[in-house]
Amino acid sequence: MVVGAGLAATQTVAALRERGFDGRLTVLGAETIPPYDRPPLSKHLLDRPGPTWLSEELGVDVRTLADEVRLGSPATALRVGPSGVEIDAGTIVEADVAVVATGARARRVPGWEHALVLHTADDAAALRARLTPGTRLVVIGAGWIGAEVAGVAAAAGVEVTVIEAAPAPLTGALGTQVGARAMPWFAAAGVRLVTDARVVRVEPDAVHLADGERVPADVVLAAVGAVPATDWLGAALPREPDGSLRVDEGYAVLAAPHRVRAVGDVALRRSHRHGWVTGGHWDGALRGPVDLATDLLDPSDGPLDGTSDGTSAAHASDPVPYVFSTQLGHDLTLFGLPRPGDDVVLRDGAGAGGGDWSALWFRPGSPVLEAVLTVDRPRDVGAARRLFAGRDLPRLDRDRAGDVNVPLRDAALA
Ligand SMILES: Cc1cc2nc3c(=O)[nH]c(=O)nc-3n(C[C@H](O)[C@H](O)[C@H](O)COP(=O)(O)OP(=O)(O)OC[C@H]3O[C@@H](n4cnc5c(N)ncnc54)[C@H](O)[C@@H]3O)c2cc1C
Repeated sequence: MVVGAGLAATQTVAALRERGFDGRLTVLGAETIPPYDRPPLSKHLLDRPGPTWLSEELGVDVRTLADEVRLGSPATALRVGPSGVEIDAGTIVEADVAVVATGARARRVPGWEHALVLHTADDAAALRARLTPGTRLVVIGAGWIGAEVAGVAAAAGVEVTVIEAAPAPLTGALGTQVGARAMPWFAAAGVRLVTDARVVRVEPDAVHLADGERVPADVVLAAVGAVPATDWLGAALPREPDGSLRVDEGYAVLAAPHRVRAVGDVALRRSHRHGWVTGGHWDGALRGPVDLATDLLDPSDGPLDGTSDGTSAAHASDPVPYVFSTQLGHDLTLFGLPRPGDDVVLRDGAGAGGGDWSALWFRPGSPVLEAVLTVDRPRDVGAARRLFAGRDLPRLDRDRAGDVNVPLRDAALA
């Protein structure tokens, strides 16, 4: 039983069948439409009027690979017993194994009922219908999605203001120092960016800030993050305070029987290289299911009613955390996990604000590399990916890594 009909669910079905699983597969999806891809919802908000189907994007159609696909059937409860699982979804569905792949939902802030959010194809359709040239759009949040929407809307003649509580855009992901380098992109795209600004009230025609400013709006978009969509599980599985499910390298939910797995945005997975890795990014939902299926179908992995002891790592490919974004005319890739307090080394030939550059996060005072961000530098992308392909974090000569004239791979220490 695969619960959820998004990217992680689709990939789970495909990976199980590719590995020869010929048992019964049922997919439950809350939405009424077939699986689609989410990144185009923001990047192609205004130039792609309908969903980008995963059957076309990945060449994988769950409706032909699974025995049953029930769309418009949200799971509302799960019970785990010694010989199987039961899921409530209108009727009770029984299975030997449950894979929780219910993804995330947009974070909604109480009192901001007048703001739209962008997480589903329906959300995109509602937002698209409201954005015409000259419309005043206020985006709350200068994270990945807020920045992407601001860029495409401004390019289409929408008058865009972005309100950000932190001192810089992308602060949650990149920290203030690196996030600040994205600041000029907003002005260059014709977007007004207001940082260090706290929203106190959202009305149908305005957003009020703590400093007393009233920002007029025809449309307000709250782009303030997403939370794992696991409320439906109640206390059936151990959930983290943010709602995520802690899993081992085979995506078995910790402290639950092996027959319960979680993958994609719901999962907080253990990585030998990076420690605990949160979901929330496309690549994790693309690759995680491969390790999940390999582990699940391995007979040496112990009985399904056994509990994960948290040591399974035999087959894990341990993919590097990877995010991509196209925003305000720039192509960004982020490999690894920047940590607060890391030392940041820049590879920048042109100086702050101009041209292409990369940022590297090192453990304080150490050659150990934690993360790499590339901005319009495709030549660093392949090198960054390869650096994180080993079992441990890579070690780099920091001076050479900061020299744009030295290929990034040549900065690696033996
Ligand atoms: C606008 C937008 C832009 C994005 N852009 C990027 C990007 O540029 N780069 C990047 O790395 N990531 C991006 N992401 C994140 C990426 O899309 C997600 O990480 C990815 O979709 C996760 O896949 P998933 O299958 O875990 O979850 P989802 O894609 O959310 O799929 C989960 C499915 O489960 C269903 N579901 C939920 N609850 C239940 C239930 N109780 N019962 C049954 N079904 C249920 C949902 O309806 C949904 O269809 C973006 C996300 C959004 C919203």
